[in-house]
Amino acid sequence: MATPPENARAFELLRDEALACTACRLSEGRTQVVFGMGDPAAELMFVGEGPGAEEDRQGLPFVGRSGKLLDRLMAEEMGLTRESAYIANVVKCRPPENRNPEPDEIAACEPFLMRQIDAVRPKVIVALGKFAAHTLLRSAIPITRLRGNWGHYQGVKLMPTFHPAYLLRSPHEKAKAWEDLKQVVVALGRQLPAPGGRQG
Ligand code: SF4
Repeated sequence: MATPPENARAFELLRDEALACTACRLSEGRTQVVFGMGDPAAELMFVGEGPGAEEDRQGLPFVGRSGKLLDRLMAEEMGLTRESAYIANVVKCRPPENRNPEPDEIAACEPFLMRQIDAVRPKVIVALGKFAAHTLLRSAIPITRLRGNWGHYQGVKLMPTFHPAYLLRSPHEKAKAWEDLKQVVVALGRQLPAPGGRQG
């Protein structure tokens, strides 16, 4: 989808603001802010937890092992590339030693995510993992119960599912994530890819 110029400009300004942000302690240990990537006019937006070591190094979200799995899930289960979606995280700076982001850090960073979602205006958001799902749905229900059930964030349909990092540790749960992503494809009004490309 083409990016309207005003949307691109709003994104540039928001990115510049995030790159200079020191609103929480995560700014102290970061190499760089990982703002987000993809099509700023995408129909589909993925929201993960926060940058890991590789993301912090490259300045891009989901570029490590989890990112490779996300790319595979998108290609095999959704017939999409990462360039056709927009990908961001709940916190834009890497928590030290990959610890979980603290509630005050999530609260400090959420305005960036809200404004990203407002600028992209996706048809569907996929919340990857418990931090994204809990933050966006204002819920403390375990991700094992939230996943697969539609919710909303700022009026946008939201599908919670497992984080790819969890799927790497628990491959037996992949089938559930596949089912969740299929629901997303249907909600986007797209064709499900032909079966057969999946490698387990
Ligand atoms: Fe700012 Fe978010 Fe980074 Fe905290 S995590 S310093 S709020 S950009």
